[in-house]
Parts: sequence; structure tokens; C-alpha cells
Amino acid sequence: MPEPVCVRCRGPLRSPETAGQWTCDAHGVVEPLHPARPAEAHHLADAASSSGVPVWVPWPMPSGWAVSGVRRTGGTGTSRAVAVALIGPGLTARQVELVIVAEEPGVGLGASYAGLDTTDPGPELASLPRDTKVTAGGHPTPLWSLPVSDRAAYVGEAGGRWLWAVTWPVEEWMVVHDDLRLVDVRDPANRTLLLELPTALLAPRLAC
Ligand SMILES: [Zn+2]
Repeated sequence: MPEPVCVRCRGPLRSPETAGQWTCDAHGVVEPLHPARPAEAHHLADAASSSGVPVWVPWPMPSGWAVSGVRRTGGTGTSRAVAVALIGPGLTARQVELVIVAEEPGVGLGASYAGLDTTDPGPELASLPRDTKVTAGGHPTPLWSLPVSDRAAYVGEAGGRWLWAVTWPVEEWMVVHDDLRLVDVRDPANRTLLLELPTALLAPRLAC
């Protein structure tokens, strides 16, 4: 098994056996991030059964899109952050990647995919108008666009967890739109979806 890496910078970690907790030289005590897994149903089921946060997938799946991988944090306890990657056609780009992250505050997985050296979005979000919204677990969920240059990054809150959506290339920001519906495959009612989801080869961005 490859060693987990820092959830924020992907650097090496000192393990609980040597440092007491998973520790990054740059970021201190962090959640250990495990390698990205392909989108086979058993990897998604593993992530769902060990996660303390939603494992969001779009359903119905937008036309031409597929799940391309899953990645989670966690030591001995449940995951505090899970990323699901998708891949599909864009309006102008042949291939668009979308990474959807659910996480507890203070972890930093979503921010790392957004290219931000932080863990959580700042409090100024609350004073801004939302840029788009999705439906997450049946609830309308406003999302705010964050200022990053080479990708489009959105963040909001669903059920007390951060919900991040990051797309590449930046011109395809519109793949995150009001009609996108996310379901949590931890919910027993959604487990059968794991066998129905279209899948694609592991997305390169998820593995970064
Ligand atoms: Zn680090």
C-alpha cells in the first residue's frame, strides 16, 4: 500500500507511530490522504461505507459524463473528506474534468484541488451573492465562485459540510449549473446507483 500524503500539499507525512499523529512538515497535523482509486463500484462502495461526509455523485448523470475515480482521507476513523472525479464533454473542450469534494471544515482537500493554500473559504463568502447553485441531497445549495486562474472553483455548504466543485479547463465553468443534482451514495436508497453509474478511466486531476 502506498503511504498516504498530506491532504493540503501532497507532501510526505510522518506517521502516528513516529510523530503521534499524521504530520506534514509544512502543514503540521493533517488528515492523511489516500491514493486516488478508479471508479469501479467496489471502490465507491468502500469510500461510501467508510465516510463520515457525503459521497456526492451527479444523478441523473449529465449526458456523456462518467465517474472517473474516488479519493478519500482518513486514518483509523471515518473519512473527513471525500472527492469524486467526473469526466465529460464540454461546450468547447473535448474533455472536461470535474472534482466534487465533501469535507468537514478545517481539512483542506477541496481547497487543494482549487489550488488554494488554505483549508476553508473565508467568512467574506456569506456577504457575497451566490454565483450558481446545485441540488445536493434534494436541497437547493448555493455555490460561490472563488478567484483562481487556471480552473473554475466553487464552494458552498450542504448539511454542515463544505461542498466544493472544481473544473478544468476554466472556460468550462458552466458545467456546474442549477440543474446539477447530487446524491449521496452513502444513503442506502442510492446504493444501487453504484452499479448503474457510467465509469471512465481514472482522471489525472484527481490523482494530483
Ligand atoms: Zn502539507
